[in-house]
Amino acid sequence: MGDVKGFLKIKRSKTEYRPVCERVLDYHDVVKPRSDEQSRDQASRCMDCGTPFCHWACPLANYIPEWNDLVFHQQWEKAYDLLKATNILPEVTGRVCPALCEHSCVLGINDDPVTIRENELAIIEYAFKHGLVKPELPKKRTGKKIAVVGSGPAGLSCAVHLNRQGHKVTVFERDDKVGGLMRYGIPDFKLEKKILDRRISVWKKEGLVFKTNHEIKDKKELKGFAAVCFACGSRVPRDLKVPGRDLKGIHFAMDYLVRSNKSKKAEAKGKKVVVIGGGDTGADCVGTANRQGASCVVQIEIMPQPADRRTADCPWPTFPRLLKTTSSHEEGAERHWSIITRKFVGKNGRIGQIICEKDGQPFAIEADLVILAMGFIGPEPIKGLNSKDFTCGDMRRGQSLIVWAIHEGENAAEAISNYLFLREPKR
Ligand SMILES: Cc1cc2nc3c(=O)[nH]c(=O)nc-3n(C[C@H](O)[C@H](O)[C@H](O)COP(=O)(O)OP(=O)(O)OC[C@H]3O[C@@H](n4cnc5c(N)ncnc54)[C@H](O)[C@@H]3O)c2cc1C
Ligand code: SF4
Repeated sequence: MGDVKGFLKIKRSKTEYRPVCERVLDYHDVVKPRSDEQSRDQASRCMDCGTPFCHWACPLANYIPEWNDLVFHQQWEKAYDLLKATNILPEVTGRVCPALCEHSCVLGINDDPVTIRENELAIIEYAFKHGLVKPELPKKRTGKKIAVVGSGPAGLSCAVHLNRQGHKVTVFERDDKVGGLMRYGIPDFKLEKKILDRRISVWKKEGLVFKTNHEIKDKKELKGFAAVCFACGSRVPRDLKVPGRDLKGIHFAMDYLVRSNKSKKAEAKGKKVVVIGGGDTGADCVGTANRQGASCVVQIEIMPQPADRRTADCPWPTFPRLLKTTSSHEEGAERHWSIITRKFVGKNGRIGQIICEKDGQPFAIEADLVILAMGFIGPEPIKGLNSKDFTCGDMRRGQSLIVWAIHEGENAAEAISNYLFLREPKR
């Protein structure tokens, strides 16, 4: 532990954002980068607890107190070595992970938790800036060919781990570019795509082969591979089957976000936008609609407004479901909770109004563009798949988080390696 009294002297620094009036005009990262000195100060707040609950709460079991200490002592190279031992994509989790760790930080019991996620980001950005991130080539090749279907964080994690164990891995992706929801779901203002490209170029040097624009429709197409892992996500959206659903101008969130991520076309320009669904996907739609020049944005949610602080039923160190006001909400959105959508009404086949209900009272919201962001119900079907096939990420556990997808990919890689080893003929 660097500074035993660090947490008494230094306050948690708030994430600094670019001004709203500036950032809504572009799609660049909304967050301002922190200096190495600020990171050093923030890392000094870590108390190096005997039982580090942060480490327990991080699905990747990142060595958090250890790398905080190294950052405090400005031993960035060692901090990077520890970080890369558990996380293949810290530049992504360091930007968009909901920081499960911080909700379990012991300092958070009676003070603000350590800025663990931003410290993680500081380490990996230092590593890239100083040329520390190098391809990790396997010592020898096993000669086994493995296919991974889907290039989201789960598929990539599985592929990277298998490749580093010496197997020859090919990743099949139906989109034109690698990354899954990190590429075409999460908007650039949260995660710029050059961040993904920088990492993918390193993995290509490690020997990973990517086949994009290549959808696998039937398992039979993968004959010749010693093992296959399916990491196709969970993309079938939950629909809202109320009268008027077939009116023009009602879209699923992912269709809307993919179009925006691919073309930046201002689909919402001058429109009254209503986002149905109060979660993170909905928040990404709010931010996108504001950047596209929507005349107003309203977000409605069927569930009641969450509490703004821990309640008795979600005590520390559990992850609490709290009211979240994201940078997208700060850019402008009216939010309403406990709203039931009863029907869509319109003129000439286009949406014009949503008839809603709150506490038994009906009311209408004007809308020219409606975005359904109510979650996903499961994966799309692939012919020939059965319960004995290897799978990971959202496809296996349902809609979740990048950090869990990375963890699942690593587990799947281990299971595949064990399976191949057990099938090896006895000599
Ligand atoms: C809008 C949005 C914002 C999000 N924001 C965050 C966030 O800020 N932080 C966070 O932690 N999590 C976030 N999530 C959740 C996170 O993105 C997912 O949990 C994670 O990407 C799941 O990873 P995955 O690899 O399992 O699946 P995906 O990322 O969905 O990747 C699956 C890939 O498989 C491909 N594929 C599917 N079928 C086939 C096929 N038959 N052949 C070939 N390829 C195929 C798909 O094209 C896709 O590229 C967000 C989700 C959404 C929808
Ligand atoms: S991956 Fe997420 S939970 Fe783990 S240390 Fe980073 S921010 Fe925390």
